[in-house]
Amino acid sequence: MDAIAAAHVITRSGVVLSPGWVGFEDGRIREVAEGSPPAELETHRGGPHSVLMPGLVNAHAHLALGGLRHVADDLSFVDWILSGLMPAIEAGVRRDGFFEAGALASANELLAGGVTTVADSFFRLEGVAAMRKVGLKGVFFREVFGSAATDDREYLESVGRDLDLLDEGLGGFPYGYSPHSPWTCPPAVFEEIAKRARREERRLSFHLAESGAEHAFLTRGHGPIAEVTRERDQLHRYDIGATPTAALNDRDILGPDCIAVHCVQVTEEDIELLASSGVAVAHCPVSNMKLAEGIAPVAEMLDAGIEVALGTDSVASAGTLDMFSEMRAFLLTQRAVHRDIDRMTASRALDMATRGGAFALGLGEEIGTLEPGKAADCTLIEADRVRHGPWHDPESVVVWTATPDDVALVTIDGQVRYRRGDRP
Ligand SMILES: [Zn+2]
Repeated sequence: MDAIAAAHVITRSGVVLSPGWVGFEDGRIREVAEGSPPAELETHRGGPHSVLMPGLVNAHAHLALGGLRHVADDLSFVDWILSGLMPAIEAGVRRDGFFEAGALASANELLAGGVTTVADSFFRLEGVAAMRKVGLKGVFFREVFGSAATDDREYLESVGRDLDLLDEGLGGFPYGYSPHSPWTCPPAVFEEIAKRARREERRLSFHLAESGAEHAFLTRGHGPIAEVTRERDQLHRYDIGATPTAALNDRDILGPDCIAVHCVQVTEEDIELLASSGVAVAHCPVSNMKLAEGIAPVAEMLDAGIEVALGTDSVASAGTLDMFSEMRAFLLTQRAVHRDIDRMTASRALDMATRGGAFALGLGEEIGTLEPGKAADCTLIEADRVRHGPWHDPESVVVWTATPDDVALVTIDGQVRYRRGDRP
């Protein structure tokens, strides 16, 4: 196939060609134009209600947790992670093929949901194998913890040996590091991993200010995380007295090479720190609400000039890897909180789910919009059901009424990687 034609082509949020087409060659977009493609091009032609758009970019997920959907749906954050997720992951480690199957399920779900690039975080490599198998693009963030160890130096030596093997294990797949969060990764460990990332010019992605318990622990030494840490006699390893964001800033960890995931519990000063350090934020509204942690102050972050992308997190927290739900959840929550619509438009949501994600991953020159020279990563939607009409604006249709079931075709580097009907 050399081209895709559609009733509407959203080249980037706010720019729509109706009708339009995208031509590609050797995996790159060669031409984007209004009208119909030349007859000599082998063209996939979308229907009268088709929308072609840049492939969605999921800025935060854990592919290998695909087998943990519904394992702890009704637990609040600290119980969910300590009593639900951790034991399930430990059990998964003992089961052959558990993470492999989960990662493959996640990769297929992402692709069938119009996602072409994903930021995948985990401490094992099954997600990368799954992405390679289905042809999904991504950046892998190798998770680092340390809170269950008793000594920072010892843990760093042991995890360092594993990180030294990543280059060989990943065989050229792009990767960075993920010190898991300021409470699961003690500050000395966090700081060393950040230094390592900078020495190697790799990106960092970490959960930040996700929960009230994390905030209470790091700012005041109170709450359920503080209790667990005190019981383990590990409190001395943490910097208590600053917000999670300020604590990372104090150790020079924040920078434009960072994706801070969640940022629900951030103060005005924290938002200023995130903005001045150039951190990109991965907003995961469905996960935050499902875990009853609240709503991130995204409008304030955008006002401060922070680049905000959208992510799902894993199916263990969000239930699905559906980026259409995330776009809607973002708009609904921000509109509800601020009682303001002006800045919270479908166009904004689509921008965050495409160009914003590409920027956060450092891939802004490569993906995120449909323009000549970029990778031919395209998602075609057929919005031809009763619930889509009547039509007014393609971006509204995509953001307010489309679902993964409406994704008809996905190309990555010009190769068809998903076609509706070819169910994995
Ligand atoms: Zn996560």
